[in-house]
Amino acid sequence: MINYPDILHNIQLEINKVSERGQVARYIPELSKIDPHKFGMHIIDANRNEFSVGDSEEAFSIQSISKVLSLSQAIGLIGEELWTRVDVEPSGDPFNHLSLLEQENGIPRNPLINAGAIVVADILVSKLKNPKEDFLTYIQDISGDKSINFDADVAASEKETGFRNYAAANLLKSYGNLHNDVDTVLDFYFHQCSLALNCKQLTKLFFVFMNRGKCLQNNTYLTTSQVKRINALMLTCGFYDEAGEFAFEVGLPGKSGVGGGIVALLPNNYCVATWSPGLNKKGNSKLGMLALEMLTTATKQSIF
Ligand code: GLN
Repeated sequence: MINYPDILHNIQLEINKVSERGQVARYIPELSKIDPHKFGMHIIDANRNEFSVGDSEEAFSIQSISKVLSLSQAIGLIGEELWTRVDVEPSGDPFNHLSLLEQENGIPRNPLINAGAIVVADILVSKLKNPKEDFLTYIQDISGDKSINFDADVAASEKETGFRNYAAANLLKSYGNLHNDVDTVLDFYFHQCSLALNCKQLTKLFFVFMNRGKCLQNNTYLTTSQVKRINALMLTCGFYDEAGEFAFEVGLPGKSGVGGGIVALLPNNYCVATWSPGLNKKGNSKLGMLALEMLTTATKQSIF
């Protein structure tokens, strides 16, 4: 039996000792206001037992973590056709890199870098009747939590400074891999990134990827094959040019966001979320990675 309460308590003690916590994201002005001393962690296991420490019920901007959810909704809508517009290879480059698009004729390397997520956003804008509302409902339904919402201030803040994403979207458009207009797609993308959730809500949302496509309420959203693909993408691409390091240190499929959140899972076993706003140089939460490394070391469990 794994003693999660003791393990989480010890992780919190270790985290408290660290003085160098990384830098909060500044390129989205609204995120630069977040207190870098926040730390929260929450686990839900396959039997629905829950354990938490710290600021696990304080909402934060999930940013790129949302890319897994938009991908999941798009796969549910168009299935395998999605892979004609975005590839499945790790990029080894930062999340906002543009040069690969030129090399690969406008086909982003994977759906978890910004360019790939913008193509996925384009698919959802094409397929959903009321894209932002329908995406939000999808998130609320999977997590069973109607209180989850976008943070309009964060979305507006990113819109003002999102020059790199405008560049990516324009490049995609020039290659014919964006079917709607740039502003509409980016408005959707900035809203999906602005979703505000706490660690507890995040684990309930990602339960579906831990539980072979069945959400907490036992409704089926994805086939086992689709879940395998999404988890494989999280493992190989979820941390951009630090995906190797995350697999090496932690050994779980997971996804980070520049709001300082990380969610990771051990299939059929548990789902865990951490929040610490300070980022390392690769844009991933510094203490979140450390906490997850301590978790898999203490439990002696990883996908490897
Ligand atoms: N909204 C952010 C961006 O597009 C998401 C980046 C991230 O969380 N890595 O830059």
